[in-house]
Amino acid sequence: MANGENAWLDWVRRQQRSARPAGLRLGIGDDAAILRPRGGWEIAVTTDLMAEGRHFRRGVDRPEDCGYRLAMRGLSDLAAMGAEPWMLFFSALWPQNEPPAWRRAFHRGLDQAAKEAGAALAGGDVSSGIQACFDILALGQIPRGQALQRDGARPGDRIFVSGQLGQAAWGRQMLDQGHIPQNPRERQALRRCRRPRARWELGQTLRGLASAAMDLSDGLSSDLDRLCAASGVHARIHETHLPVTGPMLQRKTFLDLALNGGEDYELLFTIPRRRLTDMPNGQDLSIPIIEIGEILPARRAGKPQRLWLETKNGQSQPLEPRGWDALRSHILL
Ligand SMILES: [Mg+2]
Repeated sequence: MANGENAWLDWVRRQQRSARPAGLRLGIGDDAAILRPRGGWEIAVTTDLMAEGRHFRRGVDRPEDCGYRLAMRGLSDLAAMGAEPWMLFFSALWPQNEPPAWRRAFHRGLDQAAKEAGAALAGGDVSSGIQACFDILALGQIPRGQALQRDGARPGDRIFVSGQLGQAAWGRQMLDQGHIPQNPRERQALRRCRRPRARWELGQTLRGLASAAMDLSDGLSSDLDRLCAASGVHARIHETHLPVTGPMLQRKTFLDLALNGGEDYELLFTIPRRRLTDMPNGQDLSIPIIEIGEILPARRAGKPQRLWLETKNGQSQPLEPRGWDALRSHILL
């Protein structure tokens, strides 16, 4: 019984004692949680899966990092909506005979991310299976009518991203190759892969300012394509403006990671030209915020190309969405 469900849930419950945010009327331990949102606020809800062999690999990824990253995936979606992180629900399929140490370490990482965001773990489910698979359900609160959506970008709006792009994908390459980081830039990329920090503070400052926003989980080329599809617009980005990571000598490789690498968990957003002076200061938030391009009207004639990349030579070339595809991409198996 010591390693059974009840013992595990007791351990999980003991970890939660410190965190009890406003609005959690009833947490872990009953059949359902009871939440009470702030009056006049709406609730954003998102869910995200993480599967062994698909999103992490045992022996390569540390369990604390997996738990942390899972929570940040949900928190990043909340950030993209401009929501304040509030509650997390965590469901897990653990392999039978999984050593409790791996589970506990995973849980500690998840709990650390929740605490950083000021969110509480309010429930979930547990079962066993052949391979590990996890689900995070994240809830956030937003003042009524102020959620950031993907569908509001208009021609003339400027396109921005936070942070540096392609770091997580570079870190993932190092993990897969067993490469030990040799310099601060490599160490930072590995850290960003293992411990991405979702941008919920930035998301909240963009309420009432950004015309559209989303988080960068699958790679800029794919995510910008989705934002443009939702808004019914086209876009042009400038190669020389992109916050590409990595050494200049390998610029082409790192440009590819910036455009198509996933798991950056930065924010992509658009600002109307007349609001540019109201932009938040990236220094206050300790994150670089870079203007990378502009929204164009959708061309209907011929074979419309949605995304364009202006190269450093000033030429416009079509940009195809080549980021992570949940049903196609295989990076770990
Ligand atoms: Mg998202």
